[in-house]
Amino acid sequence: MANEVVKKEPMFTEGYVIMPYKYSVGTLASKFFIEIRDHKKINGVKCPKCNIVIVPPRSVCIKCFNKIEDLVELSGKGTLVTYTVAHYDSAVQAMKPPYAIGVIKLDGADTAITHFIGEVDFKELKAGMKLEAVFNETRNANILDIKYFKPVKNKG
Ligand SMILES: [Zn+2]
Repeated sequence: MANEVVKKEPMFTEGYVIMPYKYSVGTLASKFFIEIRDHKKINGVKCPKCNIVIVPPRSVCIKCFNKIEDLVELSGKGTLVTYTVAHYDSAVQAMKPPYAIGVIKLDGADTAITHFIGEVDFKELKAGMKLEAVFNETRNANILDIKYFKPVKNKG
């Protein structure tokens, strides 16, 4: 009946999910992580049609949807676009707070990556500052092989 009042009763159920999984990251992302692990080099991809440089690599251009197959090497240096300092602790974080995390546009790339910022006084953080990648001694072919980005020291 359309006018019948339905009594609603909240229901809850308890559960616990353990879900280990593996998935293929694809050819380009595999090369991306292997280059970081084996050579401490950060690569992007360059769309052969519109010339946009994307990092991390994608097999399809984010701008024109053209297929992309080749990596381009980037310097590992870039510019801080924006940042925040995390003070909140959570079990899923890779680093204990407080720590800085930023959006970094690598030189030569048109997109930016998000990563930790280290070796910096938080008060000195500012958008536009130059950063460079610092790699972990032990690398496992994942994004945390980049330990963090640190400020580029001016010479002289
Ligand atoms: Zn494109």
